[in-house]
Parts: sequence; C-alpha cells; structure tokens
Amino acid sequence: MGEWLMLDVRTLAFTSGLGGLLMALTMFGIYHAGMRSRGLIDWSLAGLAFASGYLLGHLLQTVGIPVPTWFAVSLANALIALGHGLILIGVQRYLGRPCWTRLVVIIVAVVFVSTRIFPELGDSLRWRIVMHSSTYILFSGYAGWLLWRSRRSGMLYFHRAVSAVLLAFSLFLGIRLTYALFSPGLIGSFVQDPFQVMAFLSAMLFGFFLSMALAVMMFREKQLELMRLARTDALTGLQNRQSMDHVAEREMQHATATGESLSLILLDVDHFKRVNDEYGHQAGDRVLQAVAECVGGRIRGRDTGFRFGGEEFLIILPGATLDQAAGVAERMRQSLAGTRINLGDCGVRLTASFGVVEWQKKRESWDELLKRADAALYEAKRAGRDQVVRPTIHAGLPEQG
Ligand code: GH3
Ligand code: MG
Ligand code: MG
Repeated sequence: MGEWLMLDVRTLAFTSGLGGLLMALTMFGIYHAGMRSRGLIDWSLAGLAFASGYLLGHLLQTVGIPVPTWFAVSLANALIALGHGLILIGVQRYLGRPCWTRLVVIIVAVVFVSTRIFPELGDSLRWRIVMHSSTYILFSGYAGWLLWRSRRSGMLYFHRAVSAVLLAFSLFLGIRLTYALFSPGLIGSFVQDPFQVMAFLSAMLFGFFLSMALAVMMFREKQLELMRLARTDALTGLQNRQSMDHVAEREMQHATATGESLSLILLDVDHFKRVNDEYGHQAGDRVLQAVAECVGGRIRGRDTGFRFGGEEFLIILPGATLDQAAGVAERMRQSLAGTRINLGDCGVRLTASFGVVEWQKKRESWDELLKRADAALYEAKRAGRDQVVRPTIHAGLPEQG
C-alpha cells in the first residue's frame, strides 16, 4: 500500500481532468459524426463536468485560485457529482426510462453546500467522504445496474461492458466509504491518505474505461442500426428480399430439426397498375404502405412479412400447416378487400390474390417452394383474382426417389 503514497495527488487530479475531457470530446465526436443516440449529449456534458471539476481541484492545489477555498472546493465537488448524475441521466435516456433530472439537481446542490457543513477538518472529512461516496455510488451503481439488466437484443455484452465499469467504480467507492466510516485514523492529511490517492487514480481509470466502453457501445448501436436498415424495405418497413433468404434458411433448418411445419403466403395486389395510372406513383406508394400495414397487422409473433417485389408480398409462417396458413391468407384477403385506402381527398378499394404452400421437407428446395407459391398465385389470378389458392400438395413436386 505504501507505493500508492508515491503517486502525486495533484498530477492525478490533473489526469482525471484529462480523462473527463477525453470522455467529453469522444462523446461529442461520435455525436457529431452522425450518431444521434439518446444519452450521448448527457455523457458529453458529464465528461465536461468531470474535466472542470478535477481540473479545478488540480488548480486549487497548484496555483491557488483567488476565490474562497471553500467555494472552489464546493464547486469542484458539485461538478464531479454532476458528472456522475449526468452519466445516470444519459443511461436512463439511452434506455428510454424516466430521467432523475430533478433528484440529480437537488443532490448536486446538497453536495455544493456540504463542503461548508463538513470542512476538511477531523471527523468532518470523514462525513464528507461518506456523503460524496454515497452520492457517486447511487448514481454510478444505479446506472450500472440498469444497463446490466437491459435485454436489448444484440447489445448484451456491450451494455455489460459499460455496466462493469460503472459497477467496479461503485464497488471501489463502497470500499472507500466503509474505510472512511470505520477507520479511526482517517483524520489525517488529505494528501497522505492512500485511499485519497486511490480515489483519484480510480476516477482517472473510470474516465478512460467508461469513455472506451461507451464509444464501443455506440458503435455497436450504429452497426445494429445499419444491419436493420440493410434488411428493411424503405417504403413499407417490412423486411426486404435480401433478408428473406436469410430468414428462409434459418426457418427451414428449424423446421427440419423440430419436425414442425413451415408454410408460405405469396400475395400480389390486383390491378395495381391502375392505381399508378389513375392517381400517380406517389399515391401508388401510399397504397403499398397501406397494404403492408394490413399484411403486417395480421401476422403472428413468429411470422415474418417481406416485400417480395413491386406489389408482391411474402409471409413466412413457421409452425403453420397449409390449412392454418390458408386461414391467415383468407383473413388478410378479407381485411384488404374491406379496407378503404385514403389518398387525400379520395380513397381506393383494392383486392389481392394469394398463393399458399406448405414446405415439403427433404423433397424441395426453397426455390422450388417459391415456384409452387408463384404457380398458386398465378392460379388465383387466372381464376378471377381476390382469392386464396393452395395447390394440391404434390403438384409441381419432383417424384420421391
Ligand atoms: P395483376 O392483377 O395482374 O397483378 O395486375 P397489376 O397491375 O397489379 O400487375 P403488374 O405486375 O403488371 O403491375 C405492377 C405494377 O406495380 C407495375 C409497377 O409500375 C408498379 N410498381 C412496382 N413497384 C412499385 C413501387 O414501389 N411504387 C409504385 N407506386 N408502383 C410500383
Ligand atoms: Mg399485381
Ligand atoms: Mg405483380
């Protein structure tokens, strides 16, 4: 433990300030680069609060500042408490939870006046440390706990990395608090106490690791968003055809492994060209969005809807038999036929034709299954449109060897 005494508190305070600056600039840089994730501005401001708080602490001990010492110390402590509060507010905002803004403001104000109540003398210092540590533990510990419990898909390890930094820091503060409470010797010099040195050291490491973990978490967010965009059809919000191959492969493997059924619905809007011709392409786009809503609104949790092409949509229904899928298709048909799609001052009624097929495991590939769905859809068109057609099971299938 004696080695810690060799570290210079002033330098550590200065480096902790730089850690805060690094955090502020990194978060602001990420924001400026186009990442608009909620919480980034709070974390950037938190970095600034840390930087000014610690640098103020450093300046106090080196050059001395021409203001009352208690005021400068109060301000430095309040800024550091504000930094921790802003990290928590940022995490709450990022996770879409209610923010503790008012509570943070109140606690920061209390921290500000606490230096007046608990001067740096004897037992007072002990209570000041207890109070400040409790504040930081509350803010950082709760932020870490919220992130640890978050179940956002694809973010588990990234949330946990940030959480680990926050919780490790809280743990250290908890040890420091316990030490301050129970160590009778803690009335000595501020500079000589090894735990004070370690407090600055941990604050410095906290700033560095937190910046890094938050930055990596933001990059992951962006990566997931780009992956989502690459899978999504921009007009309808349904998944696109590129995504379809991926989902098809996954669901076929699942159906093979579990022995469950797997069915498909392919639908094509009837006489859609007329909408474009009569009302214009933009109106056509709006109609496609309405059809997608109708399709998307009628699928179950495990089903996935895709925009297959222009005005064709495809639904993959894992676990559904041909009968069940045909039932879903029939409900979609009725729903669409009964919907008046608003186009500003007028409205249109549209119908669609449906082809429904069930995958014959081991006997057909995905392309062959699609071909059968297409053939069934063609049948529906030929038979007069606005209907659901399912082929006889073996139609179009190769003979079993
Ligand atoms: P059918 O009942 O035989 O399906 O008749 P249809 O008019 O729907 O058939 P067709 O496939 O010939 O026409 C589809 C039209 O969809 C042609 C194309 O201009 C239009 N289309 C394709 N993609 C889009 C799009 O993104 N927006 C709009 N507005 N129209 C599109
Ligand atoms: Mg059509
Ligand atoms: Mg078509």
